[in-house]
Amino acid sequence: RSLHKIQHDELEKLKELKDLPAITKDGERVRLLANSGLLNDLQPSLLSGAEGIGLYRTEIPFMSCSAFPTEAEQVAIYSELFAVFGNQPVFVRVLDIGGDKQLPYFQIKDEQNPALGWRGIRFCLDNTAIFRSQLVAILQASEGYKGLHILAPMVSDLEQIRSFKALIEESIELLEGNGHRINKPKIGCMIEVPAAISQIPFWAEDLDFISIGSNDLCQYLLSVDRNNPRVAGLFESSHPAVVHEIKRIIDLAAPFKLDICLCGEMASDPRAVVLLIGFGVRKLSLGAAQLPRIKKLIRTLDASQCKVIAERLCGMSSAAEIKMELER
Ligand code: PEP
Ligand code: MG
Repeated sequence: RSLHKIQHDELEKLKELKDLPAITKDGERVRLLANSGLLNDLQPSLLSGAEGIGLYRTEIPFMSCSAFPTEAEQVAIYSELFAVFGNQPVFVRVLDIGGDKQLPYFQIKDEQNPALGWRGIRFCLDNTAIFRSQLVAILQASEGYKGLHILAPMVSDLEQIRSFKALIEESIELLEGNGHRINKPKIGCMIEVPAAISQIPFWAEDLDFISIGSNDLCQYLLSVDRNNPRVAGLFESSHPAVVHEIKRIIDLAAPFKLDICLCGEMASDPRAVVLLIGFGVRKLSLGAAQLPRIKKLIRTLDASQCKVIAERLCGMSSAAEIKMELER
């Protein structure tokens, strides 16, 4: 058979999984959501069987405009997003520009270390006119919809969470003053700056959920530029330090009523999924194209066995050893 035919047949088989739950052989239910940023992704996400959008990267629609989109333009985009997903959850991440994500009409230049610079929530809180209009647009679009989660990127400090929440509160008041009825959104932050990890217990009271951004977490933990091919070999999510820190995130969050999701590339890496299930992660967000395969994998796993494997991996000191064990 041709490679094309093999792939076609496999995809057809995966389609049969669409309406089946992602559940391990020993009955642990895992929620699989899709990553998105384009309205064009929404249909493929639904077709893949995604149970919502676990990461909507709002910088993507911003990047495809020729100037900052107006509040009304944003309302139109977010409304379409919520309409597609009924009352399934949608995690809308507020503007995460800076670093490697530049807007064509607003270049952040003159930074020696852009990855450590004016990005994510830092940019948002320093540009409150832009930020307020985004929050108002998200909230206005969510009128009548119950699954809204608002997610802050690159958080390193409790004050950022408090300011973020205050701006959301203000935006709700403004909209309600204008006659809108807004359901209270769930509020959370990315855990992707390593400083966030030890602070989870101190932040928990202010948050409904956390989302592990394994891409930036790897970049910052290992000090490896995620886009630099010269050091690509060092960008390794199976690095023992990454494994230990992910475990620490889960363990620190466990005593609190915090919903936990992982939305980086690890969620679509079959090896990493074994590890994450073993650590107790039960919500993953990944590209729609990879979702059916990961669902298929989860349905063949035994969560209690993953736990034993994950514990064993914590005693290993090399990425190669960890990868080999997970592959096995
Ligand atoms: C991450 O950092 O893991 C993440 C999901 O966000 P982004 O890739 O958009 O930085
Ligand atoms: Mg990130």
